[in-house]
Amino acid sequence: MSLPPPRDLGHGIYTIAAPLPFKSPPWVNVYIVEAGDGLLMIDCGTDWDEGRDAIRSGFASLGLTESSVHSLVVSHLHLDHVGMSKRLVEELGCRFIMHERASELVDRYNDTPGYIQRLRQMAVVHGIPETLANAATDIERAHYMPLIDKPDHVVVDGDLIDLGGGRFLEVLHTPGHESAHICLRDSASGILFSGDHVLPRISPVIMYDGEGDPLGDYMNSLQRLIDIGIQLTYPAHGQIVERGDERARQILLHHVRRLSDMSEMVREADTNAWEVMTKSFRPNLDPLQARLAFLETISHLERLRLDGRINGYDRDGKVTYGR
Ligand SMILES: [Zn+2]
Repeated sequence: MSLPPPRDLGHGIYTIAAPLPFKSPPWVNVYIVEAGDGLLMIDCGTDWDEGRDAIRSGFASLGLTESSVHSLVVSHLHLDHVGMSKRLVEELGCRFIMHERASELVDRYNDTPGYIQRLRQMAVVHGIPETLANAATDIERAHYMPLIDKPDHVVVDGDLIDLGGGRFLEVLHTPGHESAHICLRDSASGILFSGDHVLPRISPVIMYDGEGDPLGDYMNSLQRLIDIGIQLTYPAHGQIVERGDERARQILLHHVRRLSDMSEMVREADTNAWEVMTKSFRPNLDPLQARLAFLETISHLERLRLDGRINGYDRDGKVTYGR
């Protein structure tokens, strides 16, 4: 797998591809923005030497100095975005910025046993057959996912992160893929740093985590970007998106279609999330893909239930969906 080279994107914005220790996605786009008397970094990848080396050599080849980084902003609390934060903040001595909700979620991020427990619970409630449940929930915390610290600076929707010279990054809270997810809009160029909220080619997985309406949140957050009329979009994975609003519309349509497919399936005969998942996704998913597809399916079914399009019945601690 060859990584794209570090690039000067203009407008005082640079990007470095930091490789990730898994097949997909193969790298995260780290963005560096000139900010007053220093630099601001957006996202940082997982904590492993290949990623750290790529950032170091990327800075060198762009003619930038790492010690000029005064702020690290993280789009959301997933390991491919926040994983290396503790190491970088310690090495560079920079501020560490996330959405305010991330403060609470850091405890969850650090708590692998708690995550496994919630996953096992959902496996039982939403119908994963016992023979498969262990494989689906057999998770160990990876070496590239060390514990992280809470941010020392939090932001909320509408906050402006000062870049100097009257320029700023506007914080847009875009929950869905993760409830503390933020996008950042550059006041000078209109460019949107979209994190995983809007990605080219793939639609970010919307994982149910035991409560709430993550898909509803996600679709609302997409609609908001469409209403704003976002154009040039710098995503955290893959290539630059010229028309962010069109891409957001495509992803929204994908979910609208999947919702009506699943709604039809459920209204034909009572079923559970696991069965809907096996009928909706291609067969032979590996354990990680199966887990993500399962959690995404629950997000869809809960959206349909909250919308009144289907019902959910709790029978002896197991949820059945039907008309
Ligand atoms: Zn990601």
